[in-house]
Amino acid sequence: MNRSTGGSELAVPPTVVELLDVLWAGGHSAFVVGGSLRDALLGRTAADWDLATDARPDRVVELLPGAVYENRFGTVAVRRDDEVYEITTFRTDHDYADFRRPHRVEFGDSIELDLARRDFTVNALAWGRTAAAAAAGVRPDLVDPFGGRDDVTSGTLRAVGEATRRFEEDALRMVRAVRLAATLGFGIEPATLEAIAARAELVGHLSGERVAAELGKLLAAPAPSVGFRFMETTGLLVHLFPELAAQRGVAQNKIPGDDLWSHTLRTVNAAAVDRPIVRLAALLHDLGKPSTAADGHFYGHETVGAEMAGALLARLRSPRVVAERVVHLVRNHMFVYESGWSDAAVRRFIGKVGQPALDELLDLRAADNVGSGLPAHHGGLAELRTRIDEQLAAEVALQRADLEIDGADLIAELGLEPGPIIGRLLDDLLERVIADPELNDRPTLLLLAQAALGDDE
Ligand code: ATP
Ligand code: MG
Repeated sequence: MNRSTGGSELAVPPTVVELLDVLWAGGHSAFVVGGSLRDALLGRTAADWDLATDARPDRVVELLPGAVYENRFGTVAVRRDDEVYEITTFRTDHDYADFRRPHRVEFGDSIELDLARRDFTVNALAWGRTAAAAAAGVRPDLVDPFGGRDDVTSGTLRAVGEATRRFEEDALRMVRAVRLAATLGFGIEPATLEAIAARAELVGHLSGERVAAELGKLLAAPAPSVGFRFMETTGLLVHLFPELAAQRGVAQNKIPGDDLWSHTLRTVNAAAVDRPIVRLAALLHDLGKPSTAADGHFYGHETVGAEMAGALLARLRSPRVVAERVVHLVRNHMFVYESGWSDAAVRRFIGKVGQPALDELLDLRAADNVGSGLPAHHGGLAELRTRIDEQLAAEVALQRADLEIDGADLIAELGLEPGPIIGRLLDDLLERVIADPELNDRPTLLLLAQAALGDDE
């Protein structure tokens, strides 16, 4: 990232400084704020750069060509070089009534009040200057009313103001604390941590969407277990995810002394950080174990677990495509590969699991192995991967769509009526072709279909 010309040691990108310049030149106070500044101080690449100003939204739009006012969020978005920057008018918050969100947000005129409504000191920093300072030619500077900079240096999450009250205002802040602890590798200051434990049950009021957004960010942390352990010790876990809390103390017998909950966390950490679906599936893969535990076995836990994962994701209002993928992975994670599998068995496995889940399922299983104290490739995973790749490279038929005929052919060539029989015939043919790929040509398939019809009669 290019260093700014702003004279500070902060890596504020030139584009951001340009946007600030426009606002200053327009006679306004303008600052970079929040998480982006914290990340810059840490030398991390900021996810997004947020700006705050005393200019009202319509004024911001007037000053910045191409800017769009997003009424729903009260934010102006401006695109520069394929990146979107959010510019928010200073706010003050009032009257928190339901532990979910500020009852009333009002535009404000000072950066100090805007910072005071933010959650943690490390997120309550600003860099920039007021309109007056800009007019007087004063250089932009850091605004740090709550000691956020020192907390960045020591790696500490500390609530702005009185922690208990701030968590009562918005319970999501407690989830953000444990998430940020994992994302940033920070500790949580004792009074803040105590306040989370004292108010943990308030997270029950949060909307699924807001929890899901923080869960997604937690799963993208280098070691999500850090955040989940904080959830556990503060009591957030039992209120957010009781089905995960139920894994505590369930004997797992793979790693001595580990319970099922530890196994889950090891599995999540072992999944690749850039595979969010696999990480989510890793978190949920053994949800069915506590209720199926009997004599050291968990028969059918993948089926029960798939159901529970579906319910949990519905609670979080996860997009259907995400939920379906994760549930599919949970349901199929217990396959047992043996070197003795025929090529046809490998093809059947591919057909059953399907793409793109196949790759994810193998990744999930490798993480599950590591979570069990085993080498990632335990159970012939590497060999299975190779054999799958061979079959895929051979471009043999694995699904209905790969057959050299389709339903319309069957109807036209064999004089059949449309109906369920067509689907059954195609499945039948696919079974045959998976067993013997040589059969996948048009005349052969039509003959086979005819013979199958004869058998039915
Ligand atoms: P990340 O780097 O993961 O995006 P972030 O801290 O920037 O973390 P955002 O959701 O992008 O998280 O929020 C931007 C800023 O808005 C925060 O840094 C914080 O100052 C403020 N903020 C966000 N959520 C809250 C909240 N629930 N209560 C108070 N302030 C909040
Ligand atoms: Mg952010």
